[in-house]
Amino acid sequence: MLPLICDLPAARRVSGHGSHSSTYLCSECYITLKDINNLDRDKWPPRNLCDHHKFADMWKNAATKAEQDRIFSTHGIRWSELLRLPYWDPTKHVIIDAMHCFYLRLFFRHVREIWGMDVTVADGDGSKPPVPTSLEKDVMENADHILRNGTQPGPEAAAKPFFNNMYKTASDSKVKRLRKAVLVAFCAVLQPEEAPVNKRSATLKKVLGKQTLAAIRDDMTKLGLPSWATRAPRHPGEVKWGNFKADEWRSFCTVNLPITLTRLWGSKPRDDRHHQMLLNYMELVAAVKIANSRTITEDKIALYDKHMLAYLKGIRELYPFVDLSPYQHLSMHFSAQLRRFGPTHSWRCYAFERYNGIIQKIATNDTLG
Ligand SMILES: [Zn+2]
Repeated sequence: MLPLICDLPAARRVSGHGSHSSTYLCSECYITLKDINNLDRDKWPPRNLCDHHKFADMWKNAATKAEQDRIFSTHGIRWSELLRLPYWDPTKHVIIDAMHCFYLRLFFRHVREIWGMDVTVADGDGSKPPVPTSLEKDVMENADHILRNGTQPGPEAAAKPFFNNMYKTASDSKVKRLRKAVLVAFCAVLQPEEAPVNKRSATLKKVLGKQTLAAIRDDMTKLGLPSWATRAPRHPGEVKWGNFKADEWRSFCTVNLPITLTRLWGSKPRDDRHHQMLLNYMELVAAVKIANSRTITEDKIALYDKHMLAYLKGIRELYPFVDLSPYQHLSMHFSAQLRRFGPTHSWRCYAFERYNGIIQKIATNDTLG
């Protein structure tokens, strides 16, 4: 047994690493969450097997739970039964799965979270007004208390500026992850005139709005795809059509979007923001196509690195208010995985997810055991 193949939350639990949203988010280097926007790989302290075993043993042999917690919060490492395999290296053999990484996370992040695909809003240019850099200390303390506990003190008073600011700047997915009580408090403190859908949309300047999505849909009806390719939902950006599956993201993002966006933005002047957004997006498409090649060579790996780095640098320049995500950081380690394991078709999650789907369709009496 060598590669550990699963989605990221499962991979971290099985391998003994901390969560991908914890301080030490990466299984291959010691970059911390606050440095996640650092794209200089030379500054990422690499993990090593010797240290990993040392901290995992410390955790395993700790006398109390409190001691284990202290070791884990300091080093981001727990014991895993897989460490009994002498050849298994948790700093190199925890797979960054291509299906989850590229289709379900990187494309999702770009199209849904950065471009805000939504058929109910007008098109924008993806820019945001400057974000206030500091809020009063008591406001931050109260808001932090509410975010952690979902209760008072005082959401109606001190937290209002914080929530208003968060409402304007947080991504939809971040807001969705908040606890219900927090959202209730959030709604209670938000002034009605600051929250209408059309005003919020105008503030966020989403890119894939009503007009662009209409053009994409129009092109989709004229496009013939090979029979093996999964079609994207015919009404992207509409809630009732639900979330895309991995194959649908692949078709939508590597076929439909490049066709329509090149038609719409490709002939604009090179310094036009939409043209720049298109060039940046195509860096991602190129990187994903190369990463999923059926053959891999050192030249292809170098090309993948070049496109992915250009894409991530472009994200920081075009959307400076957007932090890189754990998967975006991990994508910079993907070239090393291609070098270790070869073409992704033999180690990505597609086959396993298909089996999950088959198992889930088996009729049961809903009784365990
Ligand atoms: Zn890393």
